Amino acid sequence: MPKTPQAIRGTQDIFGPDAEAFAFVVDTFERVRKLYRFRRVEMPVFEKTEVFARSIGETTDIVSKEMYSFDDRGGESLTLRPEFTAGIARAYLSNGWQQHAPLKVATHGPLFRYERPQKGRYRQFHQIDAEIIGAAEPQADVELLAMADQLLKELGIEGVTLHLNTLGDGDSREAWRAALVEHFRAVKDELSEDSQERLEKNPLRILDSKDRRDQRFVADAPKIDQFLSDDARAFFDAVTSGLDAAGVKWTRAESLVRGLDYYRHTAFEFIPDEGSEAAGRLGSQSTILGGGRYDGLMESLGGAPTPAVGWAAGIERLAMLVGDKGEPLADVIVVVENDELIDRAIAAIGKIRAAGHSAELMASGSPRKRFDKAVKAGAEKIVAFAIRDGAEHVRIKADEHATGSLEKLLD
Ligand code: ATP
Ligand code: MG
Repeated sequence: MPKTPQAIRGTQDIFGPDAEAFAFVVDTFERVRKLYRFRRVEMPVFEKTEVFARSIGETTDIVSKEMYSFDDRGGESLTLRPEFTAGIARAYLSNGWQQHAPLKVATHGPLFRYERPQKGRYRQFHQIDAEIIGAAEPQADVELLAMADQLLKELGIEGVTLHLNTLGDGDSREAWRAALVEHFRAVKDELSEDSQERLEKNPLRILDSKDRRDQRFVADAPKIDQFLSDDARAFFDAVTSGLDAAGVKWTRAESLVRGLDYYRHTAFEFIPDEGSEAAGRLGSQSTILGGGRYDGLMESLGGAPTPAVGWAAGIERLAMLVGDKGEPLADVIVVVENDELIDRAIAAIGKIRAAGHSAELMASGSPRKRFDKAVKAGAEKIVAFAIRDGAEHVRIKADEHATGSLEKLLD
């Protein structure tokens, strides 16, 4: 016997209650993004490698270690998208979407990163994503965060808090960066190997390190607040007062940076509260939604300076938090107790589904047991076709009201 091929490490075959939870996340996102008037976009799964290399930044983990890149048959280097933002920014520039600015877009789908697979971390995973492009005002950040907050509430996810920071504008960020380099250089030998490397290339990312050797020195590292320009401070104040007005709870997280080079001003993550049920379910893979303002991105792709803000959330991690949605029962089961009546039943189930009721046909196995099987399956409404004393007989098992409307429908 030939050997059955195995799935690729880090991919998932999602089925049953997990697939229902996944769909619930996507459906809820679709509903909420419409409430906030985000327009739907569908993006390519692959792009030229330079789209990600230039916009995400060569020094990031994503570009330096996690991308699935390959040469296509024409010899061009392509990459399976590791995130949405870079591709959306490329599309914004190459399609002239500037004419729609400020443009609010939302999408979801698979992403690919070569990471060590573990609970809540996969090589093909899925995100929902929302972006506001061409909006410089702090109100855009507020609206985007209010949408994230409402989404989590509508998913029924509790015990998750918005952790918020500012990276300041370009100048603030540079001054902070210099101070961080000085701080960490003094303890360089005690940092993790990764952070020793980051020290020269991308020191902000040391703050993001999950390595305990680094975390000791992160606590007393210089804070951005000392370096904020008046404009950057005013921007952050407008974001926080907007969030308060919108009723979005947040907490200041002074060490929070986003790993990607193009972020400015607002940076944020929604993280389960310590000791909460959500934290218990997610284990160490704790961030469920993250994003920020990326005013510097478009220029790295050769576009005009374009302010923008966005977030992405892992669908798998959200699905782990929404819990078991079960698999819904059929509204109606149509039972064929005599096989001669199969076409009658097919016609009937067509009408039932066209009227918007989910329906399952029960027409296999021993004819005499089918009705009992339908009862056992838990359907509240059963329509059974049988022949009794040579005549066709339709039996409806439902409450009085439903019986009436089914009779009318099948008439
Ligand atoms: P992490 O710190 O967990 O690696 P990240 O900073 O790489 O996250 P982002 O690039 O901001 O994550 O992606 C946003 C969200 O996408 C994360 O908060 C998480 O929910 C999800 N995510 C990221 N990478 C993975 C993965 N490999 N598998 C599953 N979900 C992921
Ligand atoms: Mg990561």
